Amino acid sequence: MNNGHLTEERLQIAGLENELLSAAEKLHLQHCDACRLQAASYKQLFAEVQSAPHAAFDFPLEEMVMAGLPETRKRRSLPSLAWIFIALATGAGLFWATKKYLLTLVTGVLPFTLYTSVLSALVIFIFLAFDMYRRYQQIFRIVEQ
Ligand SMILES: [Zn+2]
Repeated sequence: MNNGHLTEERLQIAGLENELLSAAEKLHLQHCDACRLQAASYKQLFAEVQSAPHAAFDFPLEEMVMAGLPETRKRRSLPSLAWIFIALATGAGLFWATKKYLLTLVTGVLPFTLYTSVLSALVIFIFLAFDMYRRYQQIFRIVEQ
């Protein structure tokens, strides 16, 4: 309440749904001409807004939006199942070709080779992270336009 009167928010609620008001607010509305008049004007306003015709565009909005979007590159790539098959076949081939050296690879690897592998993995990770960051920057630039 505002100086004994209902606040603008409560008056708008009174204009929408009177049942949402408390008993004290309903009692005040019964006795206060100013609040009742304001609630009635809100009720009339809401009724007019609801009965107004919906906005319709007299131009093809969807076509204009779609024309404004940047074209996406269409990649010609093998289906993902084919890629999985190629990866599995390559892995199986490498395993078959090197199976007698695998135990030696795991147990007898030189520290230099191990460090080189870790360094390569780190460089690849940094490159991928930078690439991902660059793509998100592009996407954000497109979204902000
Ligand atoms: Zn009042």
